[in-house]
Amino acid sequence: MQYIYIAILWLVSVFLLYRVTNFKKMNTTQSIYFSVHVNACIVFAILCYSIALLVTSEKMALLVYGLFNIACYGFAYTFLHYARVYARYEKFPGIIRLIYGILALYFIGAFIVNIKTERIFSVILSEDAFGNTYYMIGHMSATMVLYNIMFYAALGGSVAIFLIRGFTIAKIYRKKYTNLAFLVIFAGFTDIFSDFLGVCFDFSLLIYAFVSLLIYYYSFEFVPRGLLKQLITYIMKYNDKGYIFYDMFGRCQYRNKKAEEFYQVAGGGAKRESALKKWLNGKNMQDIEETSWERIMEIDGVVRTYITTFRQLYDDKSNYLGSFFILEDVTEERAAYYDEWYQATHDELTGIYNREYFLEQAYKAVCEHPKEEYCILCSDVHDFKLINDLFGVEKGNEVLLACANVIRGAAKKGDVYGRIGSDRFAVCMPSSHFSDEKLERCRVALASLTVNENLADKFYFGIYENVGTDIPISVVCDRTIMAINKIKGNMQQHLVYYDEQYRKQVRYEQQMITDFNNSLRERNFHLYLLPYVNVDGEVNGAEALVRWFHPIKGLMMPQDFVPIFENTGIISRLDLYVWELACKQLRRWKQLGFEDLFISINISAKDFFYINVYETLTNMVEQHDINPNNLHLEITEIAVVQDFDNMLGILKKFREYGFRIYMDDFGNGYSSLNVLKDLPLDVIKIDMGFIQKSTKSEKSKKILNMIVSLSNKLGIDVIAEGVETSYQMEYINEIGCHTYQGYQFSKPISIQNFENRYFVKAYE
Ligand code: C2E
Ligand code: CA
Ligand code: CA
Repeated sequence: MQYIYIAILWLVSVFLLYRVTNFKKMNTTQSIYFSVHVNACIVFAILCYSIALLVTSEKMALLVYGLFNIACYGFAYTFLHYARVYARYEKFPGIIRLIYGILALYFIGAFIVNIKTERIFSVILSEDAFGNTYYMIGHMSATMVLYNIMFYAALGGSVAIFLIRGFTIAKIYRKKYTNLAFLVIFAGFTDIFSDFLGVCFDFSLLIYAFVSLLIYYYSFEFVPRGLLKQLITYIMKYNDKGYIFYDMFGRCQYRNKKAEEFYQVAGGGAKRESALKKWLNGKNMQDIEETSWERIMEIDGVVRTYITTFRQLYDDKSNYLGSFFILEDVTEERAAYYDEWYQATHDELTGIYNREYFLEQAYKAVCEHPKEEYCILCSDVHDFKLINDLFGVEKGNEVLLACANVIRGAAKKGDVYGRIGSDRFAVCMPSSHFSDEKLERCRVALASLTVNENLADKFYFGIYENVGTDIPISVVCDRTIMAINKIKGNMQQHLVYYDEQYRKQVRYEQQMITDFNNSLRERNFHLYLLPYVNVDGEVNGAEALVRWFHPIKGLMMPQDFVPIFENTGIISRLDLYVWELACKQLRRWKQLGFEDLFISINISAKDFFYINVYETLTNMVEQHDINPNNLHLEITEIAVVQDFDNMLGILKKFREYGFRIYMDDFGNGYSSLNVLKDLPLDVIKIDMGFIQKSTKSEKSKKILNMIVSLSNKLGIDVIAEGVETSYQMEYINEIGCHTYQGYQFSKPISIQNFENRYFVKAYE
C-alpha cells in the first residue's frame, strides 16, 4: 500500500521538480524565488517521507523522519514568506525570523540527538492492509508539540495573509488568494485529522504538494478572466475610434461611446439604421465583403473626414458570429498629411509650386490634353545676385514675390506654374493662353511691383513652343533658360523663342569651350600681327590679332570664336594669353634694339567683368620689363558705354601709367562724339565699314571729315582701318588721317613673317 502512495507522491514531485528547474529560467522576482523554495522543501519532504516508509532499520527511520520534519518546517516557513511576498506585504518583523531561525537550529539538534535517545519522537513498526511493514512516528514529546505549534503557526499566518488580502482586494483578484488559503486550511485539517485518527499515512503531504503546484499556477499562469474582459471593455469604451457590433441576426449588440457621438452629430440612431438599410440594399450583412471607405462630412460647420471600415467576425471553426463597423475620424491626420504634401510641393517663399512639382504637374497637363498645343514660358532675372548684393536679400525676395504674384495674376485656368530655380519661374500653358502683348504687360507690371524701375529691364523671358511628351519638361526648361541666357543684358530684346537652332548652337559652343581648354594647353593660339603703316609706307607698330590653329578645323579666324568666348566669359583667359605673347614680343624687340616698335592689343568689353584689367596689364609690363608706352590698348565703345564712370577712372589710370589708349571700331555702333570729348583717348581707329562707305557716299564722307578734324583739334590721332585701295588711302590722307591698317599694305601675318619683312628692311 505504501508503494502506491509513494508512487503518487513521486509523480507529483517529479512535476514539481520540473517546475523548479523551469522557474530558474524565468526572471527571478521575489515571489518566484520563494515559490522555488516552497517547491524544493516539498520535494525534499516527499523524498524523506518515501524513504522513511521504505527503511527497515529503526535508526534509519528516526534519521529520515527527522529530516522529513525539518523539510516540513522549512516548507511552512518558506510558505509564510511566499504568502507575504505574493500578497505584497512589507517585511516580517525581525523577531519572527529570529524565533524561527533559533528554533530551526534547535529542532535540527534535537532530531539528531533523537536518533539515539528517541526522546523527541519514536518510531513504531506498522503494517498496512497488504501486510507490508513500515515505520511510522509514534510517541511525541513537548518538543514535537512546539514543533507542531510553529508549523501550524506558519501555515496559519500564510492563510491569514491570503484571506486578508483576498477580501480587501478587487473582486477579480480574490480567487488568487482565497483558493490558496482554503487549500492550506484543508491540508492542515487533513494533517490534524490523520494524526488524531492515526491514519497509516500522512495524506496531508499530498495536499501540500498540490498547494505547491497551485502556487505555480496562481503566481504565473492564472489571469483572472474578468480582468481581460474589463480591459477590453475599457479599451472599447474610451477608444477614439467608434465601434458598432451587429450579431449574426443583424441586431446591433454593442456600440461604444465614440460611435454614439458620431451618430449623434450625424443624425442619431434612426439615421444610423436607415443608412445601414440603404447600404445593405436588401442583402445580409454576412454576404457583404469586408471593405472600407472615406467620407467627408460637415459637422457643426467643421468639415471632417471619416473612414468607415466594415469587418466580419468568425470563430475558430469559421462560423459567422457577426459584423462590426469601425468609424475613424482622420481629419487631423489628413490635415497633417496636407501640410506635409504642401511643404514638399510648394516653394516656401512664393507659395507657388516648387521645381519638382511644377515639372510633374506640367507633364501631367501636357499628357492629359494631347490635342492641345502647349508652350512653356520661363523667366529669369538678369544679375539677380547683384540685386541681392546691392539692395539686400529682402529686396531680392520682394522681386521674386513680385514675379510669383504677376504669374499668379496672369495665369488662366489650366495653366501650371512654379518656381524652377532661385530666380527662375516657369509657366506651362496652352499656346492660346500666351501672347507677346500679354507678356509685355506682365513685364511692365513687374516693374511697378518691384518699385525700382531699373529692375524692370532685368526680366528676361524665353518661350518653348510645341511642348510634347517626348522631351522631359526639365530639359524643355533648361533649353528655354539657355535661350534666355543668349539675350541677357540685351536692352532691346527681352523675349526669346527657343528653337532647335539654339540647341545646336549651344552644343557647338560647348564643344568650342572644351576645344579652347585643350588648345590653350597645347599652345594652338598664335599671335598674328597687322602692321600700322604711315604715308611713307613705314611700319612703326602692329596690332596683335589672335589665330587659332584648331587641331580639327584648321585655321580659325577670331570672328568664329571671339563672340562665343565673349558670351561664355572665357575671352579673358584667351586675352591674358594673347597679351602675354604680345608682352614677350615687345621684350624680344627691346632686346633686339627695336625699342620704338609698339604693339596694340585688343581688350574685350567682357574682360572688365571677369578680371582686373589694370592690375593684370601693369603686372605684365613689370614682369617683362617693357615700356608701357609700347603697349597700346584697344577698347571698344561698348566697353565704355556699359559702365562709363568706372571706365573713365580706369582709362585715366591707364594713361597715367603710360599706356596709349585706342578707341577701336569708331563709327560702328554708338559713335558718340561726346566720347571723344570726355574720354582720355590717344587714338581713334575709324571702323573699316565707315572708311569703305565714305569713299562711296558723300554724307559719310562729310561725317568722316568732321570726325577727323574734330579729333585733330582735340589732339587725338586717327587711324584708318581696313584700307584696301590706294584711292582710299589717298583720300583719307587728304582729310588729315595719316596712319593706316589694311590689306592695301598687309594682311595680319605671323611674327616670323613680320620680323622677316620689316626687320630686314630696317637692317638694309
Ligand atoms: P579688329 O580689332 O577691328 O581687327 C581688325 C580686323 O580687320 C582683323 O580681323 C583684320 O584682319 C581685319 N582687317 C584688317 N584690314 C583689313 C582689310 O583691309 N580688309 C578686311 N576685310 N579686313 C581687314 P581679325 O583678325 O579677323 O579680327 C577680327 C576681330 O576679332 C578684331 O577686330 C577684334 O575685335 C577681334 N580680335 C582679334 N584678335 C583678338 C584678341 O586677341 N582678343 C580680342 N578680345 N579680340 C580679338
Ligand atoms: Ca582692334
Ligand atoms: Ca577695329
